[in-house]
Amino acid sequence: MKKDFGKKRDNLIDNLIRKGYIESKSVEKAMRKVPRHKFVPKKVKSRAYVDSPQPIGEGQTISAPHMVAMMVEKLDIEEGQKVLEIGGGMGYHAAVIAEMIGEKGKVYSIEYVSNLAESAQKRIKDTGYHNVQIIQGDGSSGYEKRAPYHRISVACGAPSIPSPLIDQLVLEGKILIPIGSKFFQKLIKATKRKENKIEKENLGGVRFVPLKGKHGF
Ligand code: SAH
Repeated sequence: MKKDFGKKRDNLIDNLIRKGYIESKSVEKAMRKVPRHKFVPKKVKSRAYVDSPQPIGEGQTISAPHMVAMMVEKLDIEEGQKVLEIGGGMGYHAAVIAEMIGEKGKVYSIEYVSNLAESAQKRIKDTGYHNVQIIQGDGSSGYEKRAPYHRISVACGAPSIPSPLIDQLVLEGKILIPIGSKFFQKLIKATKRKENKIEKENLGGVRFVPLKGKHGF
């Protein structure tokens, strides 16, 4: 059974490389390592290595593997960095980031739904990612307590970039966030150049669940 998941995972990663979603060795290495089947609900375990989004309960979905691959590639994550994730979900994306930043880095992942936050924290602990902390809360205002961050990764769609998130970035820090309506968004990559100046890049159309909370819908 274990061997089977490993083989399916390798096939999935081979495909993501062939399609150009995975470009770097660091993303390849991270995604070959994280056991995605331990991060999806039991019901969809057999589909853990299929490249499509999966329902995770509470009306939420976990992104397709190619979306996670693209997001970690575009965010230029480096070893030792402190990363904030908004929308922890099952914790899979956080685990991929954790592999990339290594033992010296840290991921703080905020999840709005308390059931999801609780079970993601347990899963993260069981899979041995000591450099990840899942926190229940409204991530639309970021997580001031551990700011500033080198990178911020938002896994839900927002009406605009919440200003606290820019405030909580280091200079030259980067944020990836889907911006648009509740149903369709553009994936925006923004780099903080000066306290009041951000440089934006549009990475194309995406579909994420809506960001809730103070700066959400
Ligand atoms: N990255 C996750 C999937 C995220 S799905 C994974 O790999 O499993 C998007 C998540 O964002 C949902 O779980 C939803 O509950 C959460 N969310 C929505 N609004 C939020 C907010 N304001 N703060 C924190 N999490 C939020």
